[in-house]
Amino acid sequence: MAQALSCALAVGGLDPSGGAGLLADAGAFRVAGAWPCAVAAALTVQSTAGLRRTIPVAPGDVRDQLQEVLTQQRVCAWKTGALGSEANVEVVLEAARARPELPLVVDPVLLATRAPGGARLLDEGALDVLRALVATAALVTPNLDEAGALLGRPVRTPEEQREAARALVSLGARAALVKGGHGEGAEVLDVLVTGGEVTVLRGPRLPLPAFHGGGCALSALLTGWLATHEGGSLEAGVRWARERHQEGLSRLGDVGEGLAVLRLDA
Ligand code: PLP
Repeated sequence: MAQALSCALAVGGLDPSGGAGLLADAGAFRVAGAWPCAVAAALTVQSTAGLRRTIPVAPGDVRDQLQEVLTQQRVCAWKTGALGSEANVEVVLEAARARPELPLVVDPVLLATRAPGGARLLDEGALDVLRALVATAALVTPNLDEAGALLGRPVRTPEEQREAARALVSLGARAALVKGGHGEGAEVLDVLVTGGEVTVLRGPRLPLPAFHGGGCALSALLTGWLATHEGGSLEAGVRWARERHQEGLSRLGDVGEGLAVLRLDA
């Protein structure tokens, strides 16, 4: 008899280097004990040296992939990453509205850490529909810049981070985690708002070189955790994901030219 596995689904971009996007999400899902499923919404011309170009997958093809995997696989939680086009955000929104019971983690990815030619993973024009997607999320996980773009105001200080997390919940997300990794100061503050509760999670800011795939990793770990812990508390999942992420930071890998990558597996 085959063992029943809980699947976690990533809808996002293929980064050929493996450092971010769907391949990295799959690795994070495995760390959480979930079976990885993936729907490609964009291809990228990318390495750890930088993002050169984003090639959105046609919206009808994203819809077909989603329909197939969501109806046939035991998907217990899902996440979005780089969706490539406004039309693709709309397709995902339609699927999210059709499955309100399925926990969705929205990582509102817009830019890459390094993009020498100025390539983007999603255009600013998609922000309105991205906000509508955020409204369907069990959790939205922006960094400071992404929170600022979604809310149309700068998010830098801890107080602005708190307000941003609250504002994202007011938009309709069940919870928001505003990540402070791209900020400054001796501590990294992540602010989690669930319902009316605000939790500030603190950690030391490690003296690390810039690395690739940090943002994807936390939201993917958490999605994997949600897939394997039905009914578990979100805060417990966030704490677990932050710990695995922290371990990954202590195991940066060099895979060739460019930035280091996170290694979540030992
Ligand atoms: N490429 C893809 C496909 C992604 O999904 C992401 C982030 O989610 C990135 C690149 C950006 O990664 P980073 O900014 O860590 O280099």
